[in-house]
Amino acid sequence: MTSSPSFRTFRAPVGLQLCSRAINISIVLLVLSLPGVAFSTASAEPANDGRRRSVAKCDAAQFRVIVDVGHTAEAHGAMSARSVPEYEFNLRLAKLIERDLIEAGFRKTILLITEGSAAKGLLKRATVANNARAKLFLSIHHDSVPDSLLEDWEYDGRPSHFSDKFPGHSIFVSYRNGSAKLSRLFGTLLGRQLKNRGLTYTRHYTEAMMGNRRRQLVDADVGVYRYDQLVVLRTTRMPAVLLEAGSIISRDEELLLNSADHQALIGAAVTEAVETFCAARLPTAAIGTPGKRLSVPPRLRLGLQHSQ
Ligand SMILES: [Zn+2]
Repeated sequence: MTSSPSFRTFRAPVGLQLCSRAINISIVLLVLSLPGVAFSTASAEPANDGRRRSVAKCDAAQFRVIVDVGHTAEAHGAMSARSVPEYEFNLRLAKLIERDLIEAGFRKTILLITEGSAAKGLLKRATVANNARAKLFLSIHHDSVPDSLLEDWEYDGRPSHFSDKFPGHSIFVSYRNGSAKLSRLFGTLLGRQLKNRGLTYTRHYTEAMMGNRRRQLVDADVGVYRYDQLVVLRTTRMPAVLLEAGSIISRDEELLLNSADHQALIGAAVTEAVETFCAARLPTAAIGTPGKRLSVPPRLRLGLQHSQ
Protein backbone atom coordinates (compact mmCIF):
# COMPACT_ATOMS: atom_id res chain seq x y z
CA MET A 1 0.00 0.00 0.00
CA THR A 2 1.16 3.51 -0.66
CA SER A 3 -0.19 6.80 0.56
CA SER A 4 0.12 8.43 -2.82
CA PRO A 5 -1.58 7.43 -6.04
CA SER A 6 0.30 4.78 -7.93
CA PHE A 7 -0.95 3.80 -11.35
CA ARG A 8 0.27 1.24 -13.76
CA THR A 9 -1.27 0.81 -17.12
CA PHE A 10 -1.31 -2.09 -19.45
CA ARG A 11 -2.09 -1.87 -23.11
CA ALA A 12 -2.90 -5.20 -24.62
CA PRO A 13 -2.35 -5.88 -28.30
CA VAL A 14 -6.01 -5.76 -29.14
CA GLY A 15 -7.13 -2.42 -27.84
CA LEU A 16 -7.51 -2.89 -24.12
CA GLN A 17 -7.54 0.28 -22.10
CA LEU A 18 -7.39 1.18 -18.45
CA CYS A 19 -9.42 3.93 -16.90
CA SER A 20 -7.61 6.25 -14.52
CA ARG A 21 -8.75 7.30 -11.09
CA ALA A 22 -7.59 10.22 -8.99
CA ILE A 23 -8.02 8.46 -5.68
CA ASN A 24 -5.67 7.06 -3.09
CA ILE A 25 -5.20 3.57 -4.38
CA SER A 26 -2.59 1.22 -5.64
CA ILE A 27 -3.46 -0.64 -8.76
CA VAL A 28 -3.15 -4.31 -9.37
CA LEU A 29 -4.02 -4.83 -12.97
CA LEU A 30 -5.66 -7.99 -14.14
CA VAL A 31 -6.38 -8.48 -17.79
CA LEU A 32 -8.18 -11.37 -19.40
CA SER A 33 -7.27 -12.04 -22.98
CA LEU A 34 -10.49 -10.98 -24.61
CA PRO A 35 -10.34 -8.62 -27.57
CA GLY A 36 -12.07 -5.29 -27.29
CA VAL A 37 -12.78 -5.41 -23.58
CA ALA A 38 -10.92 -3.39 -21.00
CA PHE A 39 -11.10 -3.58 -17.28
CA SER A 40 -9.03 -2.94 -14.23
CA THR A 41 -9.01 -4.22 -10.71
CA ALA A 42 -7.81 -2.10 -7.85
CA SER A 43 -6.90 -2.51 -4.23
CA ALA A 44 -7.40 0.23 -1.68
CA GLU A 45 -6.94 1.05 1.95
CA PRO A 46 -10.11 0.10 3.80
CA ALA A 47 -12.52 2.97 4.30
CA ASN A 48 -11.88 4.44 7.73
CA ASP A 49 -15.44 5.33 8.55
CA GLY A 50 -18.64 3.92 9.93
CA ARG A 51 -19.14 1.66 6.94
CA ARG A 52 -16.07 -0.41 7.65
CA ARG A 53 -17.71 -2.70 10.17
CA SER A 54 -20.60 -3.65 7.93
CA VAL A 55 -18.28 -4.20 4.99
CA ALA A 56 -15.96 -6.37 7.07
CA LYS A 57 -18.89 -8.60 7.88
CA CYS A 58 -19.37 -9.48 4.27
CA ASP A 59 -15.68 -9.81 3.35
CA ALA A 60 -15.91 -7.00 0.86
CA ALA A 61 -12.28 -7.47 -0.10
CA GLN A 62 -13.16 -10.79 -1.73
CA PHE A 63 -16.49 -9.73 -3.19
CA ARG A 64 -15.86 -8.84 -6.81
CA VAL A 65 -18.32 -6.44 -8.41
CA ILE A 66 -18.21 -5.70 -12.10
CA VAL A 67 -19.42 -2.23 -12.99
CA ASP A 68 -20.21 -2.42 -16.68
CA VAL A 69 -20.18 0.77 -18.75
CA GLY A 70 -23.21 0.42 -21.02
CA HIS A 71 -22.56 0.68 -24.80
CA THR A 72 -19.26 1.62 -26.40
CA ALA A 73 -17.56 4.75 -27.69
CA GLU A 74 -18.35 3.53 -31.22
CA ALA A 75 -21.94 2.45 -30.54
CA HIS A 76 -22.90 5.05 -27.97
CA GLY A 77 -26.53 4.19 -27.21
CA ALA A 78 -29.12 6.94 -26.84
CA MET A 79 -28.62 10.65 -27.44
CA SER A 80 -29.54 13.16 -24.75
CA ALA A 81 -31.87 16.15 -25.18
CA ARG A 82 -28.71 18.23 -25.60
CA SER A 83 -27.13 15.80 -28.05
CA VAL A 84 -24.66 14.18 -25.67
CA PRO A 85 -24.13 10.44 -26.23
CA GLU A 86 -25.41 8.09 -23.53
CA TYR A 87 -22.02 6.40 -23.36
CA GLU A 88 -20.51 9.55 -21.84
CA PHE A 89 -23.09 9.54 -19.04
CA ASN A 90 -22.58 5.82 -18.47
CA LEU A 91 -18.80 6.10 -18.30
CA ARG A 92 -18.86 9.01 -15.87
CA LEU A 93 -21.33 7.42 -13.48
CA ALA A 94 -19.73 3.96 -13.66
CA LYS A 95 -16.35 5.46 -12.73
CA LEU A 96 -17.92 7.20 -9.75
CA ILE A 97 -19.59 3.97 -8.63
CA GLU A 98 -16.32 2.09 -9.02
CA ARG A 99 -14.55 4.67 -6.87
CA ASP A 100 -17.24 4.54 -4.18
CA LEU A 101 -17.16 0.75 -4.04
CA ILE A 102 -13.39 0.66 -3.74
CA GLU A 103 -13.45 3.25 -0.98
CA ALA A 104 -16.06 1.14 0.81
CA GLY A 105 -13.66 -1.83 0.77
CA PHE A 106 -14.76 -3.62 -2.40
CA ARG A 107 -11.25 -3.45 -3.75
CA LYS A 108 -11.72 -6.17 -6.34
CA THR A 109 -14.23 -4.03 -8.15
CA ILE A 110 -13.81 -4.06 -11.91
CA LEU A 111 -14.77 -1.23 -14.21
CA LEU A 112 -15.64 -2.87 -17.50
CA ILE A 113 -15.22 -0.80 -20.64
CA THR A 114 -16.06 -2.43 -23.94
CA GLU A 115 -15.06 -1.37 -27.41
CA GLY A 116 -16.47 -2.07 -30.83
CA SER A 117 -19.88 -2.93 -32.17
CA ALA A 118 -22.91 -3.22 -29.93
CA ALA A 119 -23.86 -6.85 -30.54
CA LYS A 120 -20.41 -8.37 -30.07
CA GLY A 121 -19.85 -6.17 -27.05
CA LEU A 122 -22.78 -7.66 -25.18
CA LEU A 123 -21.39 -11.18 -25.31
CA LYS A 124 -17.89 -9.98 -24.48
CA ARG A 125 -19.15 -8.38 -21.30
CA ALA A 126 -20.80 -11.56 -20.08
CA THR A 127 -17.73 -13.64 -20.96
CA VAL A 128 -15.45 -11.33 -19.02
CA ALA A 129 -17.78 -11.34 -16.04
CA ASN A 130 -18.05 -15.12 -16.05
CA ASN A 131 -14.28 -15.60 -16.39
CA ALA A 132 -13.60 -13.11 -13.61
CA ARG A 133 -15.86 -15.06 -11.26
CA ALA A 134 -17.59 -11.90 -10.20
CA LYS A 135 -20.11 -11.98 -7.39
CA LEU A 136 -22.25 -9.26 -8.91
CA PHE A 137 -22.62 -7.63 -12.31
CA LEU A 138 -24.09 -4.14 -12.54
CA SER A 139 -24.58 -2.55 -15.94
CA ILE A 140 -24.90 1.23 -15.99
CA HIS A 141 -27.12 2.92 -18.57
CA HIS A 142 -29.14 6.09 -19.08
CA ASP A 143 -32.57 6.02 -20.63
CA SER A 144 -34.40 7.54 -23.55
CA VAL A 145 -37.80 6.89 -25.19
CA PRO A 146 -38.90 5.30 -28.48
CA ASP A 147 -38.44 7.60 -31.46
CA SER A 148 -42.20 8.00 -31.90
CA LEU A 149 -42.38 9.89 -28.60
CA LEU A 150 -39.65 12.41 -29.40
CA GLU A 151 -40.39 16.11 -29.79
CA ASP A 152 -38.27 18.68 -31.60
CA TRP A 153 -36.43 21.59 -30.08
CA GLU A 154 -33.29 23.54 -30.64
CA TYR A 155 -30.39 23.53 -28.22
CA ASP A 156 -27.28 25.65 -28.64
CA GLY A 157 -28.40 26.60 -32.12
CA ARG A 158 -28.73 22.99 -33.26
CA PRO A 159 -31.88 20.94 -33.88
CA SER A 160 -32.33 18.25 -31.24
CA HIS A 161 -35.00 16.02 -29.68
CA PHE A 162 -36.48 15.63 -26.23
CA SER A 163 -39.27 14.02 -24.24
CA ASP A 164 -40.02 15.39 -20.79
CA LYS A 165 -42.84 12.95 -20.06
CA PHE A 166 -41.03 9.96 -18.58
CA PRO A 167 -38.28 10.95 -16.15
CA GLY A 168 -36.97 8.54 -13.55
CA HIS A 169 -34.69 5.56 -13.19
CA SER A 170 -35.52 1.90 -13.75
CA ILE A 171 -33.97 -1.44 -12.84
CA PHE A 172 -34.00 -4.59 -14.98
CA VAL A 173 -33.37 -8.24 -14.17
CA SER A 174 -33.57 -11.39 -16.26
CA TYR A 175 -35.23 -14.50 -14.90
CA ARG A 176 -32.99 -16.44 -17.30
CA ASN A 177 -29.86 -15.24 -15.55
CA GLY A 178 -27.71 -17.90 -13.87
CA SER A 179 -28.61 -16.48 -10.46
CA ALA A 180 -32.06 -15.12 -11.11
CA LYS A 181 -33.28 -15.02 -7.54
CA LEU A 182 -30.23 -13.14 -6.39
CA SER A 183 -30.48 -10.78 -9.34
CA ARG A 184 -33.98 -9.97 -8.22
CA LEU A 185 -32.79 -9.55 -4.65
CA PHE A 186 -30.10 -7.07 -5.64
CA GLY A 187 -32.54 -5.24 -7.92
CA THR A 188 -34.87 -4.73 -5.00
CA LEU A 189 -32.06 -3.67 -2.67
CA LEU A 190 -30.86 -1.12 -5.20
CA GLY A 191 -34.35 0.17 -5.87
CA ARG A 192 -34.93 0.57 -2.17
CA GLN A 193 -31.75 2.57 -1.69
CA LEU A 194 -32.67 4.88 -4.57
CA LYS A 195 -36.16 5.30 -3.14
CA ASN A 196 -34.76 6.00 0.32
CA ARG A 197 -32.85 8.90 -1.23
CA GLY A 198 -35.98 10.42 -2.69
CA LEU A 199 -35.60 9.17 -6.25
CA THR A 200 -38.62 8.01 -8.22
CA TYR A 201 -38.63 5.27 -10.82
CA THR A 202 -40.37 5.56 -14.17
CA ARG A 203 -43.48 3.47 -14.74
CA HIS A 204 -43.83 3.93 -18.46
CA TYR A 205 -42.34 0.54 -19.30
CA THR A 206 -45.66 -1.04 -18.35
CA GLU A 207 -47.60 1.02 -20.92
CA ALA A 208 -48.81 -0.38 -24.26
CA MET A 209 -47.23 2.46 -26.22
CA MET A 210 -43.81 0.96 -25.37
CA GLY A 211 -44.52 -1.85 -27.84
CA ASN A 212 -41.76 -4.46 -27.83
CA ARG A 213 -40.01 -2.50 -25.09
CA ARG A 214 -42.92 -3.05 -22.72
CA ARG A 215 -41.82 -4.88 -19.56
CA GLN A 216 -43.36 -6.62 -16.59
CA LEU A 217 -43.01 -4.68 -13.36
CA VAL A 218 -41.99 -7.28 -10.77
CA ASP A 219 -41.45 -4.89 -7.88
CA ALA A 220 -43.89 -2.00 -7.99
CA ASP A 221 -42.57 -0.57 -4.74
CA VAL A 222 -39.07 0.19 -5.93
CA GLY A 223 -39.22 -0.17 -9.72
CA VAL A 224 -37.73 -3.51 -10.76
CA TYR A 225 -38.70 -4.75 -14.22
CA ARG A 226 -38.29 -8.17 -15.77
CA TYR A 227 -36.37 -8.29 -19.06
CA ASP A 228 -35.49 -11.93 -19.67
CA GLN A 229 -33.86 -11.54 -23.09
CA LEU A 230 -31.37 -8.82 -22.23
CA VAL A 231 -28.08 -10.42 -23.26
CA VAL A 232 -25.79 -9.15 -20.51
CA LEU A 233 -28.28 -10.26 -17.88
CA ARG A 234 -29.24 -13.56 -19.51
CA THR A 235 -25.74 -14.81 -20.25
CA THR A 236 -24.04 -13.87 -17.00
CA ARG A 237 -23.87 -16.63 -14.43
CA MET A 238 -23.61 -14.38 -11.39
CA PRO A 239 -26.40 -12.07 -10.16
CA ALA A 240 -26.80 -9.32 -12.74
CA VAL A 241 -28.79 -6.09 -12.81
CA LEU A 242 -29.08 -3.28 -15.32
CA LEU A 243 -29.66 0.22 -13.97
CA GLU A 244 -31.10 2.93 -16.16
CA ALA A 245 -29.94 5.75 -13.91
CA GLY A 246 -32.34 8.31 -15.34
CA SER A 247 -33.71 9.75 -18.56
CA ILE A 248 -31.25 11.86 -20.53
CA ILE A 249 -33.92 12.67 -23.11
CA SER A 250 -35.82 14.56 -20.38
CA ARG A 251 -34.46 18.11 -20.41
CA ASP A 252 -34.68 18.64 -16.65
CA GLU A 253 -33.43 15.20 -15.74
CA GLU A 254 -30.46 15.52 -18.06
CA LEU A 255 -29.36 18.55 -16.04
CA LEU A 256 -29.93 16.64 -12.81
CA LEU A 257 -27.87 13.70 -14.05
CA ASN A 258 -25.08 16.13 -14.85
CA SER A 259 -24.95 17.40 -11.28
CA ALA A 260 -22.25 16.06 -8.97
CA ASP A 261 -24.69 15.89 -6.05
CA HIS A 262 -27.08 13.67 -7.93
CA GLN A 263 -24.31 11.41 -9.17
CA ALA A 264 -23.05 11.09 -5.59
CA LEU A 265 -26.55 10.16 -4.48
CA ILE A 266 -26.71 7.33 -6.98
CA GLY A 267 -23.20 6.19 -6.08
CA ALA A 268 -24.14 6.05 -2.39
CA ALA A 269 -27.31 4.11 -3.18
CA VAL A 270 -25.40 1.53 -5.21
CA THR A 271 -22.71 1.17 -2.55
CA GLU A 272 -25.18 0.64 0.27
CA ALA A 273 -27.14 -1.85 -1.81
CA VAL A 274 -23.94 -3.79 -2.59
CA GLU A 275 -22.97 -3.78 1.09
CA THR A 276 -26.36 -5.19 2.08
CA PHE A 277 -26.29 -7.72 -0.72
CA CYS A 278 -22.77 -8.83 0.14
CA ALA A 279 -23.70 -9.26 3.81
CA ALA A 280 -26.74 -11.28 2.82
CA ARG A 281 -24.47 -13.59 0.85
CA LEU A 282 -22.28 -14.64 3.76
CA PRO A 283 -21.68 -18.40 3.71
CA THR A 284 -24.11 -18.85 6.58
CA ALA A 285 -26.77 -17.11 4.57
CA ALA A 286 -26.63 -19.87 1.94
CA ILE A 287 -28.86 -17.92 -0.37
CA GLY A 288 -29.70 -19.92 -3.42
CA THR A 289 -28.55 -23.22 -1.92
CA PRO A 290 -31.26 -25.84 -2.35
CA GLY A 291 -32.86 -26.86 0.91
CA LYS A 292 -31.66 -23.85 2.87
CA ARG A 293 -33.56 -20.74 3.72
CA LEU A 294 -32.57 -17.19 2.96
CA SER A 295 -30.82 -15.80 6.01
CA VAL A 296 -31.72 -12.19 5.39
CA PRO A 297 -34.09 -9.82 7.13
CA PRO A 298 -37.73 -10.63 6.35
CA ARG A 299 -38.20 -7.42 4.44
CA LEU A 300 -35.61 -8.62 1.97
CA ARG A 301 -37.22 -11.96 1.28
CA LEU A 302 -38.65 -12.05 -2.16
CA GLY A 303 -41.53 -13.95 -3.58
CA LEU A 304 -39.94 -15.22 -6.76
CA GLN A 305 -42.21 -17.50 -8.65
CA HIS A 306 -39.75 -19.16 -10.98
CA SER A 307 -36.66 -18.83 -13.07
CA GLN A 308 -36.79 -19.69 -16.70
ZN1 LIG B 1 -28.26 2.14 -22.79
